[in-house]
Amino acid sequence: MTQPDRYAVFGHPIEHSQSPRIHALFAAQTGQDLIYTAEDVPPDRFESCVRAFFDGGGRGLNCTIPLKEMAWLLADNRSARAKRARAVNTLLLRGDGSIFGDNTDGIGLLRDLRDNLGLNLAGTKILILGAGGATRGILAPLLAERPDRLVIANRTVATAETLTVEFGDLGPVEGCGFAALAGRRFDLIINATAASLSGELPPLPADILAPGGSCYDLAYAAEPTPFVRWGQEKQAVVSADGIGMLVEQAAEAFLLWRGVRPQTRPVIETLEAERRTAK
Ligand code: NDP
Repeated sequence: MTQPDRYAVFGHPIEHSQSPRIHALFAAQTGQDLIYTAEDVPPDRFESCVRAFFDGGGRGLNCTIPLKEMAWLLADNRSARAKRARAVNTLLLRGDGSIFGDNTDGIGLLRDLRDNLGLNLAGTKILILGAGGATRGILAPLLAERPDRLVIANRTVATAETLTVEFGDLGPVEGCGFAALAGRRFDLIINATAASLSGELPPLPADILAPGGSCYDLAYAAEPTPFVRWGQEKQAVVSADGIGMLVEQAAEAFLLWRGVRPQTRPVIETLEAERRTAK
């Protein structure tokens, strides 16, 4: 009897990952026979674990915090969007034994913001908090929506400034520290820091969200994250967490691995319903 194809997500920490659930729902929906697991892999074991997974018959991997830049380095070939991001969240073992790296975070976020939540980004002022691997993946697709301005604020200011140099050719992007946000207003604030994972909120001026503005936390949890709650308190029109993005980026990875695109809406609805009943 043939074994199901094996896939996994590597990250550190990883215990709260919803990716195995999402890919199980995709597999059931599309009739694909596969197994998808979550593995706690610290950075110092990343490369050996990837090699062992593929040597042992694994077909594809997702890489999450804090492994995306390492995954970019490890890939033998990369998609254009991964090259631009210098961060990889999806690895595919090709027939010739080479490892292909893609980045599906940006298209995943855009699908959720634009198609699922109905936000129009053209002409808006966007603030991204954080300058890690996730921010690298979302910058180019966000700038392609032609915002009026895109500011990246990061705890380590130099990292934000590096991104403005790397992505400045794509649109009006600017990097700074949190202190430089005083007196500024934004239509969309995206939290791409890892602060939510430890229950923290990045330091934000009270009046930074423009009237009619929206908040989006890339992180997701069973309960609203501190940043989602902050957005609700500031009367954000939309204050959402990253579960929709997670499903959308996963669908793009599934397409790369299996050649079939699952429907995302029913999976998002299932996960939302499971969250409601878990409360
Ligand atoms: P990285 O480790 O690459 O980057 C982390 C970023 O968070 C850095 O900019 C870091 O700042 C900042 N940071 C960490 N802790 C704090 C804190 N306490 N206060 C302020 N800033 C902080 O992580 P990723 O970019 O890969 O992931 C970021 C978040 O996005 C995670 O929560 C991850 O789960 C989520 N994510 C969700 C996805 C989805 O599909 N929904 C997809 C991708 C990511 P510094 O540079 O100063 O260290």
